[in-house]
Amino acid sequence: MSLIVQKFGGTSVADVEKIRAAARKAIRAQHQGHRVVMVVSAMGKNTDRLLELAGEFGPNPPAREMDMLLSTGEQVSVSLVAMAIASLGSRAVSLTGGQIGLHTDSSFSKARIRSISTERIEKLLDDGNIVVAAGFQGIDDDLNITTLGRGGSDTTAVALAAVLGADACEIYTDVDGVYTTDPRLLPEARRVDVISYDEMLELASLGASVMHNRSIEFAKKFGVPIHVRSSFSDSQGTMIVAEQESESAPVSGAAMTPNEARVTVLGVPDVPGKSLQIFSAIADQKIAVDMVVQNIGDGGKADVSFTVQRGELAATLAALQPILPAIGADGITHDDSLSKISVVGANMVDQAGVASQMFRALADAGVNIHMITTSEIKISALVSRDQASEALRAVHQSFELHVSPSDAKSWTQIKADREAKGVEVETLVSRLRDDALEALTLTGISLLDGQARVTLSGVPDQPGIAADMFERIGAAGISVDMIVQGYDGDDGSTSVSFTVEESALESSLKVANEIAQSHGMRGVQGESGIAKVTVSGIGLRSHTHVATLLFRTLSDANINVEMIGTSELQVNAVIDSKSAETAKSGLEKVFAGSLS
Ligand code: ADP
Ligand code: ASP
Ligand code: MG
Repeated sequence: MSLIVQKFGGTSVADVEKIRAAARKAIRAQHQGHRVVMVVSAMGKNTDRLLELAGEFGPNPPAREMDMLLSTGEQVSVSLVAMAIASLGSRAVSLTGGQIGLHTDSSFSKARIRSISTERIEKLLDDGNIVVAAGFQGIDDDLNITTLGRGGSDTTAVALAAVLGADACEIYTDVDGVYTTDPRLLPEARRVDVISYDEMLELASLGASVMHNRSIEFAKKFGVPIHVRSSFSDSQGTMIVAEQESESAPVSGAAMTPNEARVTVLGVPDVPGKSLQIFSAIADQKIAVDMVVQNIGDGGKADVSFTVQRGELAATLAALQPILPAIGADGITHDDSLSKISVVGANMVDQAGVASQMFRALADAGVNIHMITTSEIKISALVSRDQASEALRAVHQSFELHVSPSDAKSWTQIKADREAKGVEVETLVSRLRDDALEALTLTGISLLDGQARVTLSGVPDQPGIAADMFERIGAAGISVDMIVQGYDGDDGSTSVSFTVEESALESSLKVANEIAQSHGMRGVQGESGIAKVTVSGIGLRSHTHVATLLFRTLSDANINVEMIGTSELQVNAVIDSKSAETAKSGLEKVFAGSLS
């Protein structure tokens, strides 16, 4: 008998009628012959309301008590859903996170799942019940109630689907699938039939709140197909699977995170270990650092810029201020009126001109780019918050995301292809480690040698410069790998670095010098003998210690990190070629336990 997990989000159980409708969906599936596990979120905006209530007692309530409070939202809805099922003549049993044996670590409000015991659920299913499990919550070793983080019911659902070996995991929500961007922000967004795990993982962590990013880590690791669909209709939604919709479209989706803040630590001595000091102080506060850009400035000093969520700016500054003298830095600046716009696409890796197209779209919309970071399947740009919607629209329009790519495949076609080829979906983790379901999973550590870096400094902080720069570089037939743009001291200008193949250094410098001259920039530097070391895996940004460990390993080996790029799938560090092998073997040693 097949088993299906059905997850209902807050809006889908917001009132009595909706609860009844959710109950009917589960009963119907049971009547069709499936064993059914439901995962349910708190009703409507209940979690927000509980948060507000807690706020009445000051800004920093004890974390343990907060999880105790927030978990009640799901307890209300699972019991009501079970009652609704009973009232409709079927059998159901509701279970809390503790009762389904969902064990987590003890990091309240962002607990990670360690194990789930399936016996009780299996037994209840065998007895003909629909099991109604509370999303978002678990218990730690001391039986404290923990929660997984906002939106975490998706992760409960996919994790249950993985450990129960479910045939399907359906996410019922208030949209009828995954769109090319949040349809509430852009009505012209297009629903996609299929999106790959990698793309959804990036989009989710870059602002596409339709799925909790950690649920996609689970899905990819254990090969769980996810069907995102509307609670209010029976139409087919979006399948999140290993395959992608198109083999040619450079961009599959765009996302925005509205509330970003930039921090720049000025005049950091350009010697190994300084980035580590900065980022470990922040990591100690459990704050996730995002876009990281280091500019190699004049006189052996660098400016280190990064972004954090706006709500964490104060805590970030408080963590850094006291250690500035120890770092030997000159000062710190920040700006909390920013948003991040990102584009994601699995085909971006082997296509030139994607970055310059994004920069051009922003320039034509009059949007200034404050910071840029790239990685293999995404490009992010930091822009003013008051221009964020325009920026998102311009980018969505430029990549024609509202139009279905000519080679787009439907889920039906992909399924047929799988059957024709006899392909089994590859799971990265073949055996469910019963003690560490959400442990870091690395797939490799690799080295790309023979690279060169070009840096332009004193780049005017105006719309259109990045577009012009990368269009000219592209026109010269130079293919660029990593790009970073960040703050260049406190004089209001920026600096842009990019990497190319060593053989393209000379031609890159020629073009860079022309660009520098035409825009009145301060200078151009080129350096050959550069290597890129890459740690690949799943959910590397959400496992924040990966970047810290990378910095620590390189710093301990006295290796300077010249550029860094992070994504959910990779952390890349640009270093001197001479240190490349040492770096690789050091990282292999440090991450040995996590390599799959
Ligand atoms: P639930 O309560 O069901 O978990 P969420 O509010 O967490 O629902 O997620 C659904 C919402 O996600 C949608 O209403 C939509 O506004 C938003 N969203 C953001 N990005 C996307 C996207 N790319 N595709 C679809 N919805 C998106
Ligand atoms: N109720 C929780 C929240 O609002 C979990 C969830 O809905 O996924 O974040
Ligand atoms: Mg959600």
